[in-house]
Amino acid sequence: MHLKIAILAGDGIGPEVTNEAVNVLTTVANARGHVFEYIPLLIGGVAITAYGTPLPPETLEKTLRCDAALLGAVGDNKFNHLPPSERPEAGLLRIRAALGGFANLRPAVAYKALADNSPLRPEITDGADILFVRELLGGLYFGEPRAWHKSTDRAHNTMVYTRAEVERVARIAFDLASRREKKKITSVDKANVLECSQLWRAVVTDVSRDYPTVTLEHQLVDSMAIHLMTRPRDFDVVLTENLFGDILSDESGVITGSLGMLPSATLGGKVNLYEPVHGSAPDIAGTGKANPIGAILTAAMVLRHSAGMEAEAKLIEDAVDEALNEGNRTTDIARGNVAGQTTLATTQMGELILG
Ligand code: ATP
Ligand code: MG
Repeated sequence: MHLKIAILAGDGIGPEVTNEAVNVLTTVANARGHVFEYIPLLIGGVAITAYGTPLPPETLEKTLRCDAALLGAVGDNKFNHLPPSERPEAGLLRIRAALGGFANLRPAVAYKALADNSPLRPEITDGADILFVRELLGGLYFGEPRAWHKSTDRAHNTMVYTRAEVERVARIAFDLASRREKKKITSVDKANVLECSQLWRAVVTDVSRDYPTVTLEHQLVDSMAIHLMTRPRDFDVVLTENLFGDILSDESGVITGSLGMLPSATLGGKVNLYEPVHGSAPDIAGTGKANPIGAILTAAMVLRHSAGMEAEAKLIEDAVDEALNEGNRTTDIARGNVAGQTTLATTQMGELILG
């Protein structure tokens, strides 16, 4: 297999963690006799410095010719004087829109070794392994009309969904669920109040008929916010619309414990976009303290969703679990002077996971 991957390392700790993710991809490709070709491209603050714009046309054009895009992070306080539309973050918003991915995947996994890092009790989180599938291009964030009428002190936004928009993201969620162990989808809505949610529920139910091996349940978003914190182990794939998914996937970051551990993937567009959830972390950039695990787990998602290498993705995820179980920590997930823990720099953690 020949896979062409755009490498959009970006700013701050972006290049540091992306380097570890690329090492993982290369190791797997070499072991399996595949060729992964990397196309390094500028985005964010580094692109502003070089070209005066956070998303140079060349970056977008070349990314569109790749099979997958791996992004580090964008953001640099040096550009805070610029208007939001010209700052590094605008590069990320623009490339997401141009690639057009509508299914945002965010796993929330409880690692036994990190149980003490979560404010939730270990007996609640132990074994939790949730995959959020959030609709990313519809709903309240994009609906028209929208306005803030300053003269009348009135503002409005519009929630809109079409059957086609719900169906395409639901199919991705059911496909993913059918390949997981529990084979369960929890579709989250507010069908007791919102017409958009009534449509959502009807379409998801229709799609479920094509997936007889997958169990479907519906939950209302308000009670779901509680269930995720009180019984996270009961969930497998959680499918929801844009706004609810934004809130619930952030909430569920608590299950894992650290921002540095969380991967993400956005599927369904012209090119799949993979990025760790964390930002550029300017406070620790260049210190070697960045946790590369979020980026490494993002590389595992590239293997699973763009290379069809499920077994290899699982191998990487197991290697992360093992490194943690052996007491290896980066600073963000280290706790006090707990005996048996070793604090590692970014590159050391990367090498250990590969070892
Ligand atoms: P951005 O605007 O780029 O999203 P942010 O300040 O909103 O930046 P992050 O950059 O993710 O968010 O940083 C939030 C906090 O989490 C910081 O204190 C940062 O050091 C820490 N952090 C984020 N990612 C990591 C990581 N991979 N390893 C260690 N610490 C991290
Ligand atoms: Mg941020």
